[in-house]
Amino acid sequence: MRIRNEDIALVRDRSAIDEIVGEHLQLRRAGGGSLKGLCPFHDEKSPSFQVTPTRGLYYCFGCGNGGDVIRFVEQIEHLSFTESVERLATRAGIQLRYEDTGSGPGRPSAPAGQRGRLVEANKLAAAFYAEQLASDEALPAREFLAVRGFDREVAEQFDCGFAPGGWDTLTRALRAKAFTETELTTAGLAKQSSRGTLIDRFHRRLLWPIRDITGDVIGFGARRIFDDDEGPKYLNTPDTPLYKKSHVLYGIERAKGDIARRHQAVVVEGYTDVMACHLAGIPTAIASCGTAFGVEHIGVLRRLLMDQDELRGEVIYTFDGDAAGQAAALKMFGEDQRFVAQTFVAIEPDGRDPCELRQDRGDEAVRDLIARRVPLVAFVLRATVARYNLETAEGRVTALQRTAPMVAHIKDRGLRPEYARVLAGLLGMDMESVIAEVRRAGKPGQASSTNGSRGGSPVGTQAATPLTAASKVARPDDGTASMVEREALKAAMQRPAVAGPVFDAVGPAGYTQQAYRLLRIAIADAGGASKAPVSGPAWAEAVAAGLDEPVLVSLVTQLCVEPLKPDSNKDETDYISAVLARLQHLAANREVAALKGQLQRMNPVDAPEDYQRIFGELISLEQQAKLLGERGMGGQP
Ligand SMILES: [Zn+2]
Repeated sequence: MRIRNEDIALVRDRSAIDEIVGEHLQLRRAGGGSLKGLCPFHDEKSPSFQVTPTRGLYYCFGCGNGGDVIRFVEQIEHLSFTESVERLATRAGIQLRYEDTGSGPGRPSAPAGQRGRLVEANKLAAAFYAEQLASDEALPAREFLAVRGFDREVAEQFDCGFAPGGWDTLTRALRAKAFTETELTTAGLAKQSSRGTLIDRFHRRLLWPIRDITGDVIGFGARRIFDDDEGPKYLNTPDTPLYKKSHVLYGIERAKGDIARRHQAVVVEGYTDVMACHLAGIPTAIASCGTAFGVEHIGVLRRLLMDQDELRGEVIYTFDGDAAGQAAALKMFGEDQRFVAQTFVAIEPDGRDPCELRQDRGDEAVRDLIARRVPLVAFVLRATVARYNLETAEGRVTALQRTAPMVAHIKDRGLRPEYARVLAGLLGMDMESVIAEVRRAGKPGQASSTNGSRGGSPVGTQAATPLTAASKVARPDDGTASMVEREALKAAMQRPAVAGPVFDAVGPAGYTQQAYRLLRIAIADAGGASKAPVSGPAWAEAVAAGLDEPVLVSLVTQLCVEPLKPDSNKDETDYISAVLARLQHLAANREVAALKGQLQRMNPVDAPEDYQRIFGELISLEQQAKLLGERGMGGQP
């Protein structure tokens, strides 16, 4: 069965792309009728994701993802084409009509309407469970909530439910509503028993329905409440077509508006903490479900927090005050380097979580806890230092050795001196010793600052998305070096005859961005710019033939299409030679820097000849770089 083409067109027409995209990320005006935001498909700090409502299209200049509103839903919800159309149709109130296509060559889609069926099953299950909470059997569940200060009204507000005993109570109820065994298993609501019969996934547990960002119920979190229950304390829906634990956040559908408005997200550990926070006036609280808070969860929050051109908001973690909490903070510190300035930790000294805090001391205590947040860096330094006996010189020195690398590797250089000062205070040592140790810890041999990239790639360590090269594609305006590299590649693609020999003279090493370097190699493989037949499709195809990653192929297209940066008083030929001179200049500068570093590490007395030779190379390179700088793009840095 296939959805009729005219219905697909209608769905596309009636689904405003800015609204659909806007449910997942903050969009800001970007001029020219476009909107921009942080790309949901790759990890980035400044927005390269553009939406053009008049054309109904989106495109990410960072990772090359793009398409229409249906494509967006396919990608963001991990749905098939048919499911995406169905989802949008439901939203727009369009009744779809299907036609039989036999076994045509169309795309093999999931069963028609699968997503809708799975959502419906989960929704009915949530209603079923909520009703069960009032049963006699559910008394311990109600008590569990009551003890934590959640009365019936609150339980209803948060749709709490109870999974009854009896092996297949829910399964039978849903089967009676014409759901198939496959649908119930796929939805994560039922499973095969060891005897081969279909039984409920959850038994005798207190349940919280988990919703996606748009409010659809996609799964459940289930807590043990009976002493004779031998299962784990918490059980969750397994990963299903709807439920992906790596980016599911409990409470996100009710918190998203406040997260965007208040530029704040509060990460708590459990369902009851989310409830306590929301009731206490912290409507920005969310929690991961049945898994540690990870990179993809952070990504979901960042896209809501994006403001103007950068991330302005705060992400506040409420870890346990104990060792596990400290370990979690340390881990976060390691993963979260790019946003370290916006990351905070709120910990109650006696280790109480927000739910316990609200029970014992009321709403205000919860608000106080969040207000008393401290920067993650300060927290981690303090927690680490606290492990050593600072009364002894040895203790102080070891604590310094453990913490100096942390300060040295804070990505935001501006923060380092400040935290060196904090550290000196914590250790009771003088600033000079601390700064010296931080500097030593930051020397090469460590991961940073060896690749010569200035602005750095907008993308960090996200491993989950299959975008190996995409994660290295720079945005057009991402720092001078990559901008020049991009302009040079555009020139080679669009005006190969002009760029020709000079372009070909700068090897792959002249490019700091991995994607650009790969493109430079592909151009050489295609015979080089000076041998290009003419510009146009044939040339683009020849270059693309050498690239096996779709993202890079799409980059070739972009570079062929994107206009060369207009320059007020130069014609195109002059502009291209200025770009290429600048490219050479930057490459030469990097080489100069490398030689200088090498000289610094050498001892002129031990190896006088090598020293002389490298010194000579340095002098001539510096002269060359100076000349190139004069020919390069005027006043630009
Ligand atoms: Zn992207």
